[in-house]
Amino acid sequence: SVFLGRTAESRRVRAECADVLPGGVASNWQDAPPGAVWISHGAGSRVVDVDGTSYVDLHGGFGVGLVGHAHPAIVEAVSDRVRKGTHFAQPTEDVVVVARELARRFGLPLWRFGNSGTEATMDAVHLMRAATGRMKIIKIEGSYHGHHDSVQVSVYPDLAEAGPAGHPHSVPSGRAVPPALAQLTLVAPFGDLAAVERLLVENPGEIAGMIIEPIMMNVGLIPPPDGYLDGLRSLLHRHGAYLTFDEVKTGFAVAPGGAAQWSGVRPDLLCLAKALGGGVPCGAIGGVPALMNLIADGTYEQVGTFNGNPLTMAAARAVLTSVLTDDAYRHFDRLRRVMTEGAEDVLRRHDLPGYVRSYGAKGAVVFHDRPLLDYRDFAAYPDQWGNAHWLYQHNGGVFLPPWGKCEQWTVSVQHSEADVRRFVVNLERMAASLR
Ligand code: PLP
Repeated sequence: SVFLGRTAESRRVRAECADVLPGGVASNWQDAPPGAVWISHGAGSRVVDVDGTSYVDLHGGFGVGLVGHAHPAIVEAVSDRVRKGTHFAQPTEDVVVVARELARRFGLPLWRFGNSGTEATMDAVHLMRAATGRMKIIKIEGSYHGHHDSVQVSVYPDLAEAGPAGHPHSVPSGRAVPPALAQLTLVAPFGDLAAVERLLVENPGEIAGMIIEPIMMNVGLIPPPDGYLDGLRSLLHRHGAYLTFDEVKTGFAVAPGGAAQWSGVRPDLLCLAKALGGGVPCGAIGGVPALMNLIADGTYEQVGTFNGNPLTMAAARAVLTSVLTDDAYRHFDRLRRVMTEGAEDVLRRHDLPGYVRSYGAKGAVVFHDRPLLDYRDFAAYPDQWGNAHWLYQHNGGVFLPPWGKCEQWTVSVQHSEADVRRFVVNLERMAASLR
């Protein structure tokens, strides 16, 4: 009832616009139980909804918000660009600065840009196909890489359709994905090298490469087992196939150079989006010359009216050179420790089944008695507290992403220790009320 009382205006706006916006929102995942919250504005670590309630924002716009809201460096860079014109469909000098900085951070020499994570992972799949002439790819069961057909396979598959755990079926995510195309996307459980090897052996000379989130983010944060990422790289290369890291979420969040830096494993291609644009739509793909030169010679047409858009590039330059500095990562780590240690202490004292996983600016409380290892674990565990936790946080002034079970918190450079302590206090309130 607290939630319903303070979100009346959100519900009114939503009901009024349903005649022009399908479902009353701008993207399906903006509408999650207990209801879409319409936002008026953001400032620093906070968002304010249309009812005028201010929240500590740990939603971070699905992981975009490492810079927080209206960061002065981003406001200045974007305002300056707006005054000079925002679109020419020709490159501006900021593109070069951004590409060089990405090359330095991620250890991959060549970069191109787009406008979303979906475009970046689509380019990666296309590039692996163009380079090898092979049409099949491998993805991880339960992973999300955006909404193009090749990766809209076994995203959150129904276990009744998903086949045996060690040898999952390719399940199209919805009726719009052509089954014939879904059959080109083979699926392996996370952390299982032998399953990938089997797919490579069973499909000789047919697999172009594999796309993987190196730390699985959308199923409660699952780290790779020791040696797994390196093992994948060697295995794929032995079979003439390529490795793509989807770092749309992990990119700048877990380390300045993403999970590639965190793990010490360099993929052949790496996809970025979200945090790179500091709140402006963005996407990027980086890679080794063997693949990226196929763009230069036209074998693969990496094109788009808004690619390298001046507004995006001005924002990205400010993000990389002024905001996400070494100091920012020290700050993320301090906040991470407050949240992780605080939440672990609450779980322990109240004897609640659960654990905390956190890396850099991101983390999650998983209400399960043992660590999740892959999608099957994630799908099978009962989500006893996830939604209640979301509601307790919301009612206590903390805005978390919806879908309690899957999503993570994101902190920004503008969050304070007091901001994130509120998260721990709300968790404590929930735990105490369950006694
Ligand atoms: N890859 C991952 C790991 C994601 O989490 C997402 C979005 O949440 C995407 C790709 C798609 O990015 P976008 O929504 O910008 O298309």
